[in-house]
Amino acid sequence: MSGVSVVALPMRTRFRGITTRETALVEGPAGWGEFCPFVEYDDAEALAWWRCAREAAHEGWPAPVRERVEVNTTVPAVGPEQAHRIVRESGARTAKVKVAEKGQDPARTSAEDLARVEAVRDALGPDGRVRVDANGGWDVDGAVAAITALARAAGGLEYVEQPCASVDELAAVRRRVDVPVAADESIRRAEDPLRVARAGAADVAVLKVAPLGGVRAALRVAEEIGLPCVVSSAVESSVGLAAGLALAGALPELPYACGLGTADLLAGDVVATPLHPVAGVLDVPRRPPRPDPGLLARYAAEPATRDWWTARLARVQAHES
Ligand SMILES: [Mg+2]
Repeated sequence: MSGVSVVALPMRTRFRGITTRETALVEGPAGWGEFCPFVEYDDAEALAWWRCAREAAHEGWPAPVRERVEVNTTVPAVGPEQAHRIVRESGARTAKVKVAEKGQDPARTSAEDLARVEAVRDALGPDGRVRVDANGGWDVDGAVAAITALARAAGGLEYVEQPCASVDELAAVRRRVDVPVAADESIRRAEDPLRVARAGAADVAVLKVAPLGGVRAALRVAEEIGLPCVVSSAVESSVGLAAGLALAGALPELPYACGLGTADLLAGDVVATPLHPVAGVLDVPRRPPRPDPGLLARYAAEPATRDWWTARLARVQAHES
């Protein structure tokens, strides 16, 4: 297939159990789009990701209402000294701290989590914003206890992301804590945000542009749910990240820093100037960046991987017509 480049990008840190991000880049009349549904997703689920890539490549994005987007730095489940260093080196004013890591007791507040958020607050100072992300790792009682303790240790939390796994649990936690609750994993398909909003399960919606089908589709979702939104990435290359930035740039309100600083997670990218945040800020692009042919060649996927992705893309495109 012409106009499709499949690459395997090395990652600095493991994410969703992978150390290489495979992705397909598609060129169209408006620019480049990225098609990168996770490999375990079926074709029906991958369709929205194709719509997002097609919008970028064939249609272009709506005009932004802001030129810059603030992003958070992410602190993985590391010790307090390293957490402190990550925040200071990022220059960001908002830090997202991973808590309730796998293997932890879902009913208990971990001393490591408390020490980590304390160190992050110390690094940010009183004006910085600390949010925590539990990735669904607590049960309801465990979440209520942990959020209360972490908010005290952090001297206030901006919000807690996905404290428990299910929408009903999020709603139950939200009724019992003062810290705002953000839904992330509970929002994966276009129909999910409305379900979250109706259940009273969240104060904040984390939106990812690709699984919602592109910038325009995600803007419609944001309008429908009427909750403040945070735009986050699916660890795309800088081509796909640009679509997330286009969404963040076009949302009428953007009260929180976004999770779009993830080019830093990749050890290789397809564009000459990857979208690395500077002092916690990224510019909103008008169009997707153009991949560098040398980088496309350097990170070109193995033939079997390339064939798998081009066949997948062809099936999903056929699904659409
Ligand atoms: Mg999250």
